[in-house]
Amino acid sequence: MTDREAIRQGDDSDPGRLADLIARASRILVFTGAGVSTASGIPDYRGPHGVWTTRTSVLYEDFLRSDAARRRYWQEKLEDREQFGDARPNAVHHAVVDLERAGRLEMVVTQNVDGLHAAAGTSPRRLVEVHGTTREVECQRCGARSDPAPHFARFAATGEPPRCDCGGYLKPATVSFGQDLRPGDLARALAAADRCDFAVALGSTLSVQPAASIPRHRQPGSHRPRSSRRGVPPHRRRRRRDLPGRGEGSAGTALKGAAA
Ligand SMILES: [Zn+2]
Repeated sequence: MTDREAIRQGDDSDPGRLADLIARASRILVFTGAGVSTASGIPDYRGPHGVWTTRTSVLYEDFLRSDAARRRYWQEKLEDREQFGDARPNAVHHAVVDLERAGRLEMVVTQNVDGLHAAAGTSPRRLVEVHGTTREVECQRCGARSDPAPHFARFAATGEPPRCDCGGYLKPATVSFGQDLRPGDLARALAAADRCDFAVALGSTLSVQPAASIPRHRQPGSHRPRSSRRGVPPHRRRRRRDLPGRGEGSAGTALKGAAA
């Protein structure tokens, strides 16, 4: 089995090999999905008991045009917040922070909106939350961002979806169904995918597009400048072309081991 195949399959039979590959990489892209947050008590919305199976998520266009939709949206988010709002980062989030401190983290690209990478201490310049975050509220007109707490408190008390001082509708700063990913975020993620010498996907089935294409991204015909390849040992040159891994169990363990 080649390295690439081992990583693609998550290689549950040989987590040591994956740990070794991670340990030898120097510019690691870590792509995380819902499976990384389940250990923090946040359910995988795409799993069998996911919230998405029991209620309809509000489409962005409906949020913008319907007061009833905005009420339903804020009510769902309030319930989520009451249930999961005090979730704390777990060992995987902390291992990613350790990688950054060791100077080996190119970027964390996460599909999760729980803000747990930021809460663990991953710095903003090393973090792309492609689906946004629930840790801030954003005005849909002027773009102003603010702390969600007072808005949720007011909604809980009045049942009225909050508005910005400018009159715009406020919404947690997540990318809703029917809403495009932010182009700047996507560009940062793709650039990081192009720079990294190793990409690993944790807790994601890589099934949500377009975010899931990021760890596999390579610019057509791209290559590193010749000068930067000097002194790079052959095994690292090869790593450059490895595909990302999946299999959260072994990969998560390997990441913790490599970052220790
Ligand atoms: Zn505003």
